[in-house]
Amino acid sequence: MTAADPACFMRRDSSLASQPLRVAIFGAGPSGFYAAEELLKQSERVVTVDLFDRLPTPYGLVRGGVAPDHQKIKTVTRQFEKVAQRPGFRFFGNVCFGTDLTLDEVLAHYHQVLFATGAESGRRMGIPGEDLPGSYPATAFVAWYNGHPDSRRSQFNFSTVERIAIVGNGNVALDVARILTRAVDELSPSDMASYAVEALRKSTVKEIYVLGRRGPAQAAFTSPELRELTELTGVDLVVRPGDLALDALSQEFLAQSTAEPTHQRNMEILTGQIAKGEGSHARKIRLHFLVSPVSVLGTSRVEGVRIEKNFLRKDERGNLKAQGTGVYEELPCQMIFRAIGYKGRRLAGVPFDERAGIIPNRAGRVIDPTSATPMPRIYVAGWVKRGPSGVIGTNKADAHATVTAMLADARQHLLSSEVWSDPETISTLLTRKRVRYVTFTGWQRTDQIELARGKKLGKARDKLTTIEELLEAAEAA
Ligand code: NAP
Repeated sequence: MTAADPACFMRRDSSLASQPLRVAIFGAGPSGFYAAEELLKQSERVVTVDLFDRLPTPYGLVRGGVAPDHQKIKTVTRQFEKVAQRPGFRFFGNVCFGTDLTLDEVLAHYHQVLFATGAESGRRMGIPGEDLPGSYPATAFVAWYNGHPDSRRSQFNFSTVERIAIVGNGNVALDVARILTRAVDELSPSDMASYAVEALRKSTVKEIYVLGRRGPAQAAFTSPELRELTELTGVDLVVRPGDLALDALSQEFLAQSTAEPTHQRNMEILTGQIAKGEGSHARKIRLHFLVSPVSVLGTSRVEGVRIEKNFLRKDERGNLKAQGTGVYEELPCQMIFRAIGYKGRRLAGVPFDERAGIIPNRAGRVIDPTSATPMPRIYVAGWVKRGPSGVIGTNKADAHATVTAMLADARQHLLSSEVWSDPETISTLLTRKRVRYVTFTGWQRTDQIELARGKKLGKARDKLTTIEELLEAAEAA
């Protein structure tokens, strides 16, 4: 029987309940794996999951986003390895949704499809000079030091740079500040891409400015990440006393946020830094609050950033917003990273909310924007569902909610009357399209090669950083 043979179709009838529910998930990051786990571990019905990723490697942001000096966080992949061993699970790496497989093709092969493609692109500041050489989204830097194949051609040269500005007050901003200042000997044993270790070894960076548009009480970063900056070898975290003098709105904000102790803890840590003043180390991370960049300065490359002092005001919903005062300052710097949040990417044939950077959905069911009703059999989970928020574990509850909706719809027979019942038809289709897809066994070969290379170099892992290298490793006999 072949993929073209209509006898392969499974028809919706009373026997459907006894057939495996065939699910495709696109995006093999934490959300994709958590959703696969939820689907495969439930006992209500038999489910098979094909987990696709556009890269020849699984684990999404755990491999390409989590900072290399946070190796402990990466151990979550052991849990994902167990998911991959569950009956009914298959991995298809190096398969790009939209080009290698269209939505129609996917819906012809699976009862349900779930998108867990994350939020891969950095938001823009929308100010003059943003595209000057030397001005980058933090996402590009993070992907580069993590050896992501997308950024293999990026060249970050810190050997002539003394000052860098980082825009944003979230954990990504702190990750970037930390990686730029941490002693290289502490980074080299990690899985950081070897070329990034070498570039950072030549770094002449002395000062990092972290620019928050609102006050210290509203900062989005979390306390352990802030505390880490106070403990870096050879680095002073410098806080200006004036920045910690809270206005009435911030005092009220802090008083009301007792249920969310992060803000209070952050304030305690920041206050503790005041007594240390400028410190005595060669490298400084300077936190500046209530400032917004209004233009990136320079003619042929970044030479500085013009910032405006802000004050806080309440908007009509009671949220605290930054408002410019008309008072400006210029900070000389040779590089600027914007760490102001991520956006999802539009997928061919799938609705997308450009402003929010997410796939519009109700509890994980993708919504057709024209009719405002759920699109049958199409679901979403993770950052592309709710926006970039929370830690890795947050995606577990999020995936659970979407899977609950999927199973409820399956219970109500809201499935297709016709999908290919032979699980091999998808491999046949990919092979016919000459897609060099990578199985989980293929990835395990790559994994072993990277670990062995790392061992030789005294690193946790020496990553392969191009698609071709990764495919060759996965295909090695
Ligand atoms: P985030 O936590 O949402 O922070 C974004 C920051 O950018 C906020 O301070 C925001 O300020 C600021 N911002 C947004 N637009 C701006 C603009 N136009 N001008 C100036 N500032 C602007 O996002 P993230 O840092 O990208 O992190 C994404 C998620 O990943 C978060 O949940 C984070 O905790 C998580 N993460 C965790 C870790 C970790 O656990 N170690 C590491 C990295 C990331 P406002 O508050 O004023 O909007």
